[in-house]
Amino acid sequence: MALIVHKYGGTSMGSTERIRNVAKRVAKWARAGHQMVVVPSAMSGETNRLLGLAKEVAPSTHSPAVLREMDMIACTGEQVSVGLLSLALQAEGMEAVSYNGWQVPIKTDSSFTKARIQSIDDARVRADLAGGKVVIITGFQGVDEDLNITTLGRGGSDTSAVAVAAAMKADECLIYTDVDGVYTTDPRVVPEARRLHTITFEEMLEMASLGSKVLQIRSVEFAGKYRVPLRVLSSFTPWDIDINEEAKSGTLITFEEDVKMEQAVVSGIAFNRDEAKVTVMGVPDKPGIAYQILGEVADANIDVDVIIQNVSHDGKTDFSFTVHRNDYQRTMDLLKTKVQPATGAATVIGDPKICKVSIVGIGMRSHVGVASKMFRALSEEGINIQMISTSEIKTSVVIDEKYMELAVRALHKVFELDDPSAVTTSSDEE
Ligand code: ADP
Ligand code: ASP
Ligand code: MG
Repeated sequence: MALIVHKYGGTSMGSTERIRNVAKRVAKWARAGHQMVVVPSAMSGETNRLLGLAKEVAPSTHSPAVLREMDMIACTGEQVSVGLLSLALQAEGMEAVSYNGWQVPIKTDSSFTKARIQSIDDARVRADLAGGKVVIITGFQGVDEDLNITTLGRGGSDTSAVAVAAAMKADECLIYTDVDGVYTTDPRVVPEARRLHTITFEEMLEMASLGSKVLQIRSVEFAGKYRVPLRVLSSFTPWDIDINEEAKSGTLITFEEDVKMEQAVVSGIAFNRDEAKVTVMGVPDKPGIAYQILGEVADANIDVDVIIQNVSHDGKTDFSFTVHRNDYQRTMDLLKTKVQPATGAATVIGDPKICKVSIVGIGMRSHVGVASKMFRALSEEGINIQMISTSEIKTSVVIDEKYMELAVRALHKVFELDDPSAVTTSSDEE
């Protein structure tokens, strides 16, 4: 008998019919003798609907008071889901009980709309499991020390599930979603994308941070930190498929030391349309200038991603960086009103229509020429690279948004990701 956490995303919970299917699948696992904790998301579209309602009445400020109410509203989608799933399980003849995050409790900090989990008290859940119940806990929700309800950021139910699995030392956390695993790139953009049977935790971390929303990045961080066995699989297989077959399906997130065979150089391609580029032109090239610019941006709580400072001409230089597109206007205003006068910069320009495309693979550590192969492939498509950023296991480029799909497809091809015979990872073979 094992303790298993299942997570079901919005599409998997998208209708009462689908919820009944989820209940049947969970009941199958429970009847096989496992203790089951289930963490569902809101029904698909529901969180957007709720946040849309909030926007209709909310002033466009981001004050803590406004964000607190956003969480109050957004968290209700998950409450409906857990209640419905519990009812559906009871209708299957199972004993089931549902909880909101605060009832567990799942304690977080007070950063409304992007709270971080600090601790989970599993006593109540354990007592229910010992009493033979299936326990269903809202994804996405937490509670701060003043008993305010918080949410964990979009896609946060993944993190709820992995955190619950970590706190309870679950034997495995299964993330059921609307694709049957982690692919070499988003299969909705590149139909030739190939499902990976395994991906290392580090690669998954990079893929998630670079824009692959199949797992929220914090869920991968939790899985790595607490060594939670994590698998991504489909909720759309027939619920009554053989449980052993189901348990081996999808993509397993592994740890690097488990990868015995030679790794493919590039395992996946991620892309992100959510960024915008800003450039401060003609700033004096002197010590402290980066701090003068980025210090202001950091003080305004704006995250900065790729940064480039050009070589100087006549003692002046250009300084570019990317921010989240939602922060674009605020960043431009800040640069124009504060940074430009303070530094004596000539001008500030911006481009919100960019995207970042990244190749990811632990095999890049031991291979040279990977980045230049990427740059050549992009140049052959006539795509201009605006910025480059690298780490040991990834290379990212910032390009014009309109070339995103073209770039992803070209890179997918050049790194032979859609050709199984060219991939050397033994664990990727059926
Ligand atoms: P859920 O509602 O189950 O949490 P999400 O929409 O958050 O589902 O995540 C699943 C989606 O992630 C897929 O439908 C797919 O379009 C997208 N995706 C992006 N990159 C990848 C990838 N590399 N592999 C698989 N899916 C990906
Ligand atoms: N319902 C939340 C969202 O739409 C959390 C999640 O689905 O993971 O972002
Ligand atoms: Mg998701």
